Amino acid sequence: PDLFAPERKNSMGWDLRHRPTLAAIEEARGPFERHTWAAGPITAEEAPHGAEEAVVNPARPRDQVGTVTWATPDTVAAAARVAQPWDAPPEERGKVLNRIADLYEEHYGELFAILHREAGKSLNDAVAEVREAVDFLRYYGARTAGDPPVGVFACISPWNFPLAIFTGQIAAALAAGNAVLSKPAEQTPLIAHRAAQLMLEAGVPATALQLLPGAAEVGGALTSDARVGGVAFTGSTETAQIIHKSMAEHLDPGAPLIAETGGLNAMIVDSTALPEQAVAAIVESAFQSAGQRCSALRCLYVQEDIVDSFTEMLTGAMDAMRIGRGWEVSTDVGPVIDAEAKAGIADYVAAAEDEGRVIKTCDTPDAGHFVAPTLIRVKGIDDLEREIFGPVLHLATFKADEIEAVIDAINGRGYGLTFGLMTRIDDRVQHVSERIAAGNVYVNRNQIGAIVGSQPFGGEGLSGTGPKAGGPDYLDRFRQHPAGQSAG
Ligand code: GLU
Repeated sequence: PDLFAPERKNSMGWDLRHRPTLAAIEEARGPFERHTWAAGPITAEEAPHGAEEAVVNPARPRDQVGTVTWATPDTVAAAARVAQPWDAPPEERGKVLNRIADLYEEHYGELFAILHREAGKSLNDAVAEVREAVDFLRYYGARTAGDPPVGVFACISPWNFPLAIFTGQIAAALAAGNAVLSKPAEQTPLIAHRAAQLMLEAGVPATALQLLPGAAEVGGALTSDARVGGVAFTGSTETAQIIHKSMAEHLDPGAPLIAETGGLNAMIVDSTALPEQAVAAIVESAFQSAGQRCSALRCLYVQEDIVDSFTEMLTGAMDAMRIGRGWEVSTDVGPVIDAEAKAGIADYVAAAEDEGRVIKTCDTPDAGHFVAPTLIRVKGIDDLEREIFGPVLHLATFKADEIEAVIDAINGRGYGLTFGLMTRIDDRVQHVSERIAAGNVYVNRNQIGAIVGSQPFGGEGLSGTGPKAGGPDYLDRFRQHPAGQSAG
Protein backbone atom coordinates (compact mmCIF):
# COMPACT_ATOMS: atom_id res chain seq x y z
CA PRO A 1 0.00 0.00 0.00
CA ASP A 2 2.87 2.48 0.57
CA LEU A 3 3.22 2.61 -3.21
CA PHE A 4 0.12 4.80 -3.25
CA ALA A 5 0.22 6.97 -0.16
CA PRO A 6 2.12 7.22 3.08
CA GLU A 7 0.39 5.48 5.95
CA ARG A 8 -1.73 7.82 7.99
CA LYS A 9 -4.13 7.51 10.82
CA ASN A 10 -6.56 10.39 10.91
CA SER A 11 -9.32 10.87 13.44
CA MET A 12 -12.53 9.07 12.49
CA GLY A 13 -14.48 12.15 13.55
CA TRP A 14 -18.24 12.10 13.83
CA ASP A 15 -20.46 11.13 10.90
CA LEU A 16 -23.22 13.75 10.92
CA ARG A 17 -25.35 11.83 8.42
CA HIS A 18 -25.79 9.13 11.03
CA ARG A 19 -28.77 9.81 13.33
CA PRO A 20 -27.46 7.89 16.34
CA THR A 21 -24.26 9.94 16.13
CA LEU A 22 -26.26 13.17 16.16
CA ALA A 23 -28.24 11.93 19.15
CA ALA A 24 -25.02 11.04 20.97
CA ILE A 25 -23.60 14.49 20.26
CA GLU A 26 -26.77 16.11 21.62
CA GLU A 27 -26.48 14.11 24.78
CA ALA A 28 -22.78 14.84 25.20
CA ARG A 29 -23.07 18.57 24.78
CA GLY A 30 -26.42 19.00 26.58
CA PRO A 31 -24.93 19.56 30.04
CA PHE A 32 -22.80 22.40 28.66
CA GLU A 33 -25.56 24.41 27.05
CA ARG A 34 -25.70 26.82 30.00
CA HIS A 35 -22.41 26.01 31.65
CA THR A 36 -19.93 28.84 32.25
CA TRP A 37 -16.18 28.39 32.17
CA ALA A 38 -13.51 30.41 33.96
CA ALA A 39 -10.23 30.83 32.12
CA GLY A 40 -7.00 32.50 33.14
CA PRO A 41 -3.25 32.12 33.10
CA ILE A 42 -1.91 28.65 33.88
CA THR A 43 1.64 28.98 35.21
CA ALA A 44 3.97 26.48 36.85
CA GLU A 45 4.39 28.79 39.84
CA GLU A 46 2.27 31.50 41.37
CA ALA A 47 2.35 34.56 39.10
CA PRO A 48 0.76 38.01 39.03
CA HIS A 49 -2.21 38.51 36.73
CA GLY A 50 -4.47 41.23 35.37
CA ALA A 51 -8.17 42.03 35.30
CA GLU A 52 -11.14 39.75 34.72
CA GLU A 53 -13.54 40.09 31.79
CA ALA A 54 -16.70 38.39 30.55
CA VAL A 55 -16.61 36.16 27.46
CA VAL A 56 -19.80 36.22 25.37
CA ASN A 57 -21.34 34.23 22.53
CA PRO A 58 -20.90 36.01 19.17
CA ALA A 59 -24.25 34.67 17.94
CA ARG A 60 -26.08 35.76 21.12
CA PRO A 61 -24.09 38.42 22.90
CA ARG A 62 -26.39 38.09 25.95
CA ASP A 63 -25.21 34.51 26.46
CA GLN A 64 -22.24 34.84 28.81
CA VAL A 65 -20.07 31.80 28.20
CA GLY A 66 -17.56 32.48 30.93
CA THR A 67 -14.90 34.78 32.27
CA VAL A 68 -11.23 35.25 31.58
CA THR A 69 -8.54 36.60 33.85
CA TRP A 70 -5.89 38.17 31.66
CA ALA A 71 -2.17 37.57 31.82
CA THR A 72 0.08 40.65 31.77
CA PRO A 73 3.74 41.19 30.84
CA ASP A 74 4.55 40.36 34.49
CA THR A 75 2.81 37.00 34.12
CA VAL A 76 4.92 36.36 31.03
CA ALA A 77 8.16 37.17 32.89
CA ALA A 78 7.22 34.84 35.77
CA ALA A 79 6.32 32.00 33.38
CA ALA A 80 9.47 32.43 31.27
CA ARG A 81 11.59 32.27 34.43
CA VAL A 82 10.35 28.76 35.34
CA ALA A 83 9.87 27.29 31.83
CA GLN A 84 11.81 24.05 31.33
CA PRO A 85 12.15 22.09 28.09
CA TRP A 86 10.43 18.72 28.32
CA ASP A 87 13.25 16.26 28.85
CA ALA A 88 11.20 13.02 28.82
CA PRO A 89 12.34 10.46 26.21
CA PRO A 90 10.73 10.91 22.77
CA GLU A 91 8.53 7.78 23.14
CA GLU A 92 7.14 9.15 26.38
CA ARG A 93 6.36 12.52 24.78
CA GLY A 94 4.64 10.68 21.95
CA LYS A 95 2.51 8.73 24.38
CA VAL A 96 1.43 11.84 26.24
CA LEU A 97 0.49 13.62 22.98
CA ASN A 98 -1.64 10.63 22.02
CA ARG A 99 -3.20 10.65 25.48
CA ILE A 100 -4.19 14.29 24.93
CA ALA A 101 -5.86 13.24 21.67
CA ASP A 102 -7.77 10.54 23.58
CA LEU A 103 -8.89 13.11 26.16
CA TYR A 104 -10.08 15.50 23.43
CA GLU A 105 -12.15 12.71 21.90
CA GLU A 106 -13.53 11.74 25.30
CA HIS A 107 -14.51 15.34 26.12
CA TYR A 108 -15.90 16.12 22.67
CA GLY A 109 -19.31 17.22 23.96
CA GLU A 110 -17.77 19.91 26.11
CA LEU A 111 -15.29 20.99 23.41
CA PHE A 112 -18.08 21.24 20.80
CA ALA A 113 -20.13 23.33 23.24
CA ILE A 114 -17.31 25.79 23.90
CA LEU A 115 -16.43 26.03 20.20
CA HIS A 116 -20.05 26.76 19.38
CA ARG A 117 -20.75 29.24 22.16
CA GLU A 118 -17.42 31.03 22.38
CA ALA A 119 -16.27 30.97 18.73
CA GLY A 120 -19.61 30.76 16.90
CA LYS A 121 -18.73 27.45 15.26
CA SER A 122 -21.45 25.51 13.48
CA LEU A 123 -21.72 21.82 14.30
CA ASN A 124 -19.89 20.91 11.08
CA ASP A 125 -17.08 23.30 11.89
CA ALA A 126 -16.83 22.12 15.50
CA VAL A 127 -16.50 18.51 14.35
CA ALA A 128 -13.82 19.43 11.80
CA GLU A 129 -11.97 21.41 14.40
CA VAL A 130 -11.76 18.66 17.02
CA ARG A 131 -10.78 16.16 14.33
CA GLU A 132 -7.96 18.37 13.10
CA ALA A 133 -6.69 18.98 16.64
CA VAL A 134 -6.63 15.23 17.27
CA ASP A 135 -4.85 14.70 13.94
CA PHE A 136 -2.11 17.20 14.83
CA LEU A 137 -1.54 15.50 18.20
CA ARG A 138 -1.25 12.05 16.68
CA TYR A 139 0.78 13.14 13.64
CA TYR A 140 3.41 15.07 15.63
CA GLY A 141 3.17 12.52 18.45
CA ALA A 142 4.43 9.88 16.00
CA ARG A 143 7.47 12.04 15.11
CA THR A 144 9.01 12.99 18.44
CA ALA A 145 12.53 11.62 17.86
CA GLY A 146 15.17 13.94 16.44
CA ASP A 147 17.63 16.72 17.20
CA PRO A 148 17.34 18.54 20.55
CA PRO A 149 14.66 21.20 21.08
CA VAL A 150 15.24 24.90 20.56
CA GLY A 151 14.34 25.51 24.23
CA VAL A 152 11.38 27.73 25.04
CA PHE A 153 8.83 28.32 22.27
CA ALA A 154 6.18 31.04 22.20
CA CYS A 155 3.02 29.80 20.48
CA ILE A 156 0.67 32.61 19.45
CA SER A 157 -2.57 31.26 18.02
CA PRO A 158 -5.66 32.69 16.29
CA TRP A 159 -9.37 32.70 17.15
CA ASN A 160 -10.53 31.20 13.85
CA PHE A 161 -9.22 27.72 14.70
CA PRO A 162 -9.07 28.24 18.45
CA LEU A 163 -8.61 24.55 19.18
CA ALA A 164 -6.98 23.07 16.05
CA ILE A 165 -4.26 25.65 15.43
CA PHE A 166 -3.76 26.29 19.15
CA THR A 167 -3.20 22.55 19.58
CA GLY A 168 -1.15 22.10 16.40
CA GLN A 169 1.45 24.71 17.35
CA ILE A 170 1.76 23.42 20.91
CA ALA A 171 1.84 19.75 19.89
CA ALA A 172 4.67 20.45 17.43
CA ALA A 173 6.71 22.41 19.96
CA LEU A 174 6.18 19.75 22.64
CA ALA A 175 6.82 16.85 20.26
CA ALA A 176 10.30 18.27 19.68
CA GLY A 177 10.78 18.64 23.46
CA ASN A 178 10.40 22.41 23.85
CA ALA A 179 8.80 24.25 26.72
CA VAL A 180 5.76 26.21 25.49
CA LEU A 181 4.53 29.63 26.49
CA SER A 182 1.15 29.86 24.78
CA LYS A 183 -0.80 33.01 24.05
CA PRO A 184 -4.20 32.07 22.66
CA ALA A 185 -6.28 34.71 20.86
CA GLU A 186 -8.05 37.22 23.07
CA GLN A 187 -11.42 36.26 21.57
CA THR A 188 -11.16 32.57 22.49
CA PRO A 189 -9.51 32.02 25.88
CA LEU A 190 -12.05 29.48 27.17
CA ILE A 191 -11.41 26.72 24.65
CA ALA A 192 -7.66 27.26 25.02
CA HIS A 193 -7.87 27.05 28.79
CA ARG A 194 -9.91 23.84 28.72
CA ALA A 195 -7.55 22.28 26.17
CA ALA A 196 -4.49 23.25 28.21
CA GLN A 197 -6.06 21.61 31.26
CA LEU A 198 -6.47 18.39 29.26
CA MET A 199 -2.84 18.59 28.09
CA LEU A 200 -1.64 18.84 31.69
CA GLU A 201 -4.00 16.07 32.77
CA ALA A 202 -2.48 13.84 30.08
CA GLY A 203 0.96 14.30 31.59
CA VAL A 204 2.63 17.37 30.08
CA PRO A 205 4.78 18.82 32.89
CA ALA A 206 3.62 22.18 34.29
CA THR A 207 6.97 23.78 33.44
CA ALA A 208 6.67 22.64 29.80
CA LEU A 209 3.26 24.21 29.14
CA GLN A 210 2.06 27.54 30.48
CA LEU A 211 -0.95 29.45 29.23
CA LEU A 212 -0.94 33.24 28.98
CA PRO A 213 -4.27 34.57 27.68
CA GLY A 214 -3.91 38.23 26.89
CA ALA A 215 -3.83 41.10 24.49
CA ALA A 216 -1.07 42.30 22.16
CA GLU A 217 1.04 43.47 25.11
CA VAL A 218 1.33 39.82 26.21
CA GLY A 219 2.43 38.81 22.71
CA GLY A 220 4.92 41.69 22.76
CA ALA A 221 6.30 40.56 26.12
CA LEU A 222 6.77 37.05 24.72
CA THR A 223 8.54 38.05 21.50
CA SER A 224 10.89 40.39 23.37
CA ASP A 225 11.85 38.00 26.20
CA ALA A 226 15.39 36.80 25.56
CA ARG A 227 14.56 33.45 27.17
CA VAL A 228 12.24 32.69 24.26
CA GLY A 229 14.12 30.75 21.58
CA GLY A 230 11.51 30.57 18.83
CA VAL A 231 8.00 31.70 17.88
CA ALA A 232 5.14 29.92 16.13
CA PHE A 233 2.47 32.37 15.00
CA THR A 234 -0.76 32.18 13.02
CA GLY A 235 -2.66 35.39 12.36
CA SER A 236 -2.44 38.49 10.23
CA THR A 237 0.47 39.37 7.97
CA GLU A 238 0.81 42.74 9.77
CA THR A 239 1.17 41.10 13.19
CA ALA A 240 3.73 38.65 11.77
CA GLN A 241 5.77 41.63 10.59
CA ILE A 242 5.62 43.21 14.05
CA ILE A 243 6.72 39.92 15.63
CA HIS A 244 9.55 39.56 13.17
CA LYS A 245 10.86 43.03 14.07
CA SER A 246 10.57 42.42 17.78
CA MET A 247 12.42 39.11 17.49
CA ALA A 248 15.20 40.76 15.48
CA GLU A 249 15.64 43.36 18.24
CA HIS A 250 15.44 41.12 21.28
CA LEU A 251 15.94 37.43 20.54
CA ASP A 252 18.87 35.34 19.46
CA PRO A 253 19.63 36.04 15.78
CA GLY A 254 18.98 32.38 14.90
CA ALA A 255 15.58 32.20 16.65
CA PRO A 256 13.10 30.55 14.26
CA LEU A 257 9.80 32.24 13.38
CA ILE A 258 7.13 30.00 11.88
CA ALA A 259 4.38 32.30 10.63
CA GLU A 260 1.16 31.32 8.93
CA THR A 261 -0.63 34.46 7.81
CA GLY A 262 -3.24 35.82 5.43
CA GLY A 263 -4.19 35.18 1.85
CA LEU A 264 -5.99 36.66 -1.12
CA ASN A 265 -6.93 33.25 -2.39
CA ALA A 266 -8.26 32.85 -5.91
CA MET A 267 -10.04 30.26 -8.00
CA ILE A 268 -10.18 30.05 -11.79
CA VAL A 269 -13.24 28.50 -13.44
CA ASP A 270 -12.94 27.99 -17.17
CA SER A 271 -15.68 27.16 -19.66
CA THR A 272 -14.99 23.41 -19.48
CA ALA A 273 -15.63 23.19 -15.72
CA LEU A 274 -18.60 21.26 -14.38
CA PRO A 275 -20.78 24.10 -13.08
CA GLU A 276 -22.55 22.11 -10.33
CA GLN A 277 -19.26 20.90 -8.95
CA ALA A 278 -17.73 24.36 -9.13
CA VAL A 279 -20.68 26.10 -7.45
CA ALA A 280 -20.73 23.64 -4.54
CA ALA A 281 -16.98 24.02 -4.06
CA ILE A 282 -17.17 27.82 -4.25
CA VAL A 283 -19.94 28.12 -1.69
CA GLU A 284 -17.97 26.00 0.77
CA SER A 285 -14.65 27.67 0.07
CA ALA A 286 -15.95 31.21 0.38
CA PHE A 287 -18.65 30.98 3.03
CA GLN A 288 -18.07 28.00 5.31
CA SER A 289 -16.88 29.17 8.74
CA ALA A 290 -18.37 32.55 7.67
CA GLY A 291 -15.31 32.99 5.46
CA GLN A 292 -13.09 33.21 8.51
CA ARG A 293 -10.39 30.87 7.27
CA CYS A 294 -7.10 32.05 5.92
CA SER A 295 -7.56 29.40 3.24
CA ALA A 296 -10.95 30.81 2.17
CA LEU A 297 -11.69 31.75 -1.42
CA ARG A 298 -11.68 35.56 -1.84
CA CYS A 299 -11.61 36.10 -5.59
CA LEU A 300 -13.31 34.00 -8.20
CA TYR A 301 -12.34 34.28 -11.88
CA VAL A 302 -14.98 32.94 -14.25
CA GLN A 303 -14.52 32.70 -18.01
CA GLU A 304 -16.69 35.29 -19.71
CA ASP A 305 -18.44 32.79 -22.01
CA ILE A 306 -20.19 31.10 -19.07
CA VAL A 307 -20.40 33.89 -16.53
CA ASP A 308 -24.11 34.73 -16.88
CA SER A 309 -25.46 31.25 -16.35
CA PHE A 310 -22.77 30.54 -13.81
CA THR A 311 -23.55 33.60 -11.71
CA GLU A 312 -27.21 32.67 -11.73
CA MET A 313 -26.40 29.22 -10.36
CA LEU A 314 -24.03 30.65 -7.78
CA THR A 315 -26.47 33.23 -6.45
CA GLY A 316 -29.14 30.53 -6.36
CA ALA A 317 -26.87 28.40 -4.22
CA MET A 318 -26.25 31.39 -1.95
CA ASP A 319 -30.01 31.71 -1.47
CA ALA A 320 -30.16 28.10 -0.36
CA MET A 321 -27.56 28.54 2.40
CA ARG A 322 -28.80 28.48 5.98
CA ILE A 323 -27.40 31.28 8.02
CA GLY A 324 -28.01 31.26 11.71
CA ARG A 325 -27.02 30.77 15.27
CA GLY A 326 -28.37 27.28 15.46
CA TRP A 327 -26.58 24.14 16.40
CA GLU A 328 -28.52 22.08 13.82
CA VAL A 329 -26.47 20.17 11.32
CA SER A 330 -28.21 22.15 8.56
CA THR A 331 -26.62 25.47 9.59
CA ASP A 332 -24.12 26.43 6.91
CA VAL A 333 -22.95 29.83 8.09
CA GLY A 334 -22.64 31.13 11.65
CA PRO A 335 -21.67 34.53 13.05
CA VAL A 336 -18.38 36.34 12.63
CA ILE A 337 -16.24 36.52 15.73
CA ASP A 338 -17.17 39.88 17.26
CA ALA A 339 -18.75 43.29 16.83
CA GLU A 340 -15.52 44.81 15.55
CA ALA A 341 -15.14 42.18 12.82
CA LYS A 342 -18.76 42.69 11.81
CA ALA A 343 -18.39 46.46 11.59
CA GLY A 344 -15.20 46.24 9.51
CA ILE A 345 -16.72 43.86 6.98
CA ALA A 346 -19.98 45.83 6.86
CA ASP A 347 -18.07 49.06 6.04
CA TYR A 348 -16.27 47.31 3.22
CA VAL A 349 -19.50 45.93 1.77
CA ALA A 350 -21.24 49.31 2.12
CA ALA A 351 -18.48 50.98 0.09
CA ALA A 352 -18.86 48.37 -2.66
CA GLU A 353 -22.62 48.90 -2.52
CA ASP A 354 -22.17 52.65 -3.07
CA GLU A 355 -20.20 51.82 -6.18
CA GLY A 356 -22.97 49.54 -7.40
CA ARG A 357 -20.75 46.46 -7.25
CA VAL A 358 -22.78 44.18 -4.98
CA ILE A 359 -24.22 41.35 -7.09
CA LYS A 360 -25.87 39.38 -4.31
CA THR A 361 -26.30 39.44 -0.58
CA CYS A 362 -28.21 37.09 1.74
CA ASP A 363 -30.53 37.53 4.72
CA THR A 364 -29.15 37.14 8.22
CA PRO A 365 -30.58 36.98 11.74
CA ASP A 366 -31.10 40.46 13.24
CA ALA A 367 -29.26 40.11 16.53
CA GLY A 368 -25.77 38.76 17.01
CA HIS A 369 -22.61 39.32 15.03
CA PHE A 370 -23.84 38.10 11.66
CA VAL A 371 -22.61 39.26 8.27
CA ALA A 372 -24.54 38.36 5.15
CA PRO A 373 -22.65 36.24 2.62
CA THR A 374 -22.08 38.65 -0.25
CA LEU A 375 -20.86 38.51 -3.83
CA ILE A 376 -19.10 41.62 -5.14
CA ARG A 377 -17.95 42.46 -8.64
CA VAL A 378 -14.31 43.57 -8.84
CA LYS A 379 -13.28 46.66 -10.75
CA GLY A 380 -10.70 44.80 -12.85
CA ILE A 381 -8.81 41.52 -12.78
CA ASP A 382 -6.03 42.96 -10.66
CA ASP A 383 -8.33 44.74 -8.21
CA LEU A 384 -8.27 43.60 -4.55
CA GLU A 385 -5.54 44.56 -2.16
CA ARG A 386 -6.54 43.47 1.27
CA GLU A 387 -7.94 40.35 2.84
CA ILE A 388 -11.52 40.78 4.09
CA PHE A 389 -11.81 38.13 6.77
CA GLY A 390 -15.46 37.23 6.39
CA PRO A 391 -18.12 35.82 4.02
CA VAL A 392 -17.37 38.16 1.12
CA LEU A 393 -16.54 36.77 -2.31
CA HIS A 394 -15.32 38.80 -5.28
CA LEU A 395 -16.15 37.95 -8.87
CA ALA A 396 -14.00 38.76 -11.87
CA THR A 397 -14.34 37.61 -15.47
CA PHE A 398 -11.72 36.81 -18.05
CA LYS A 399 -11.71 36.13 -21.78
CA ALA A 400 -10.51 32.79 -23.13
CA ASP A 401 -7.11 34.23 -24.09
CA GLU A 402 -6.57 36.10 -20.81
CA ILE A 403 -5.68 33.26 -18.49
CA GLU A 404 -1.98 34.22 -18.32
CA ALA A 405 -2.92 37.74 -17.27
CA VAL A 406 -5.19 36.30 -14.56
CA ILE A 407 -2.33 34.19 -13.20
CA ASP A 408 -0.06 37.25 -13.24
CA ALA A 409 -2.66 39.28 -11.38
CA ILE A 410 -3.04 36.58 -8.71
CA ASN A 411 0.71 36.12 -8.30
CA GLY A 412 1.23 39.88 -8.35
CA ARG A 413 -0.61 40.32 -5.07
CA GLY A 414 2.29 38.78 -3.22
CA TYR A 415 0.22 36.35 -1.18
CA GLY A 416 0.30 32.64 -1.90
CA LEU A 417 -1.79 30.44 0.33
CA THR A 418 -4.53 28.46 -1.43
CA PHE A 419 -5.61 28.36 -5.05
CA GLY A 420 -8.41 26.52 -6.82
CA LEU A 421 -8.78 25.51 -10.43
CA MET A 422 -11.91 24.18 -12.10
CA THR A 423 -11.26 22.79 -15.56
CA ARG A 424 -11.46 19.59 -17.54
CA ILE A 425 -8.41 20.37 -19.67
CA ASP A 426 -5.51 18.25 -18.41
CA ASP A 427 -2.77 20.42 -19.91
CA ARG A 428 -4.24 23.43 -18.21
CA VAL A 429 -4.12 21.71 -14.82
CA GLN A 430 -0.44 21.07 -15.39
CA HIS A 431 0.37 24.54 -16.69
CA VAL A 432 -1.60 26.59 -14.17
CA SER A 433 -0.40 24.56 -11.17
CA GLU A 434 3.17 25.16 -12.26
CA ARG A 435 2.73 28.89 -12.80
CA ILE A 436 0.66 29.78 -9.77
CA ALA A 437 2.53 30.79 -6.61
CA ALA A 438 0.47 29.18 -3.84
CA GLY A 439 1.24 26.76 -1.04
CA ASN A 440 -1.89 24.63 -1.51
CA VAL A 441 -3.33 24.11 -4.99
CA TYR A 442 -6.66 22.31 -5.31
CA VAL A 443 -8.12 21.06 -8.60
CA ASN A 444 -11.84 20.41 -9.16
CA ARG A 445 -12.74 20.53 -5.46
CA ASN A 446 -13.05 23.04 -2.63
CA GLN A 447 -9.97 24.82 -1.36
CA ILE A 448 -10.42 24.69 2.41
CA GLY A 449 -10.05 21.98 5.00
CA ALA A 450 -6.54 20.67 4.43
CA ILE A 451 -6.11 17.26 6.06
CA VAL A 452 -3.18 16.74 8.43
CA GLY A 453 -0.68 14.26 7.01
CA SER A 454 -1.97 14.18 3.46
CA GLN A 455 -2.33 17.89 2.67
CA PRO A 456 0.38 19.77 4.58
CA PHE A 457 -0.87 23.36 4.86
CA GLY A 458 1.01 26.61 4.45
CA GLY A 459 1.76 29.42 2.04
CA GLU A 460 4.49 31.47 0.52
CA GLY A 461 5.24 35.18 0.09
CA LEU A 462 3.07 37.33 2.36
CA SER A 463 1.11 34.21 3.38
CA GLY A 464 3.79 32.68 5.56
CA THR A 465 7.27 31.44 6.20
CA GLY A 466 6.63 27.72 5.88
CA PRO A 467 7.26 24.93 6.70
CA LYS A 468 3.79 23.51 6.19
CA ALA A 469 1.74 22.48 9.21
CA GLY A 470 0.75 18.83 9.32
CA GLY A 471 3.61 17.89 7.01
CA PRO A 472 6.91 16.05 7.40
CA ASP A 473 9.14 19.18 7.57
CA TYR A 474 7.22 21.11 10.19
CA LEU A 475 8.93 19.73 13.30
CA ASP A 476 12.42 20.50 11.97
CA ARG A 477 11.95 24.16 12.70
CA PHE A 478 11.22 23.40 16.36
CA ARG A 479 14.62 21.72 16.75
CA GLN A 480 18.24 22.81 16.93
CA HIS A 481 20.32 22.02 13.94
CA PRO A 482 23.87 20.75 13.95
CA ALA A 483 26.29 23.57 13.12
CA GLY A 484 26.51 24.36 9.43
CA GLN A 485 23.09 23.02 8.60
CA SER A 486 20.41 25.53 7.81
CA ALA A 487 16.99 25.18 9.40
CA GLY A 488 15.56 25.12 5.87
N1 GLU B 1 -6.03 24.75 7.56
C1 GLU B 1 -7.26 25.44 7.34
C2 GLU B 1 -7.90 25.04 6.04
O1 GLU B 1 -7.28 24.41 5.21
C3 GLU B 1 -7.10 26.93 7.37
C4 GLU B 1 -6.28 27.44 8.50
C5 GLU B 1 -6.51 28.89 8.80
O2 GLU B 1 -7.52 29.49 8.44
O3 GLU B 1 -5.62 29.44 9.50
O4 GLU B 1 -9.01 25.40 5.84
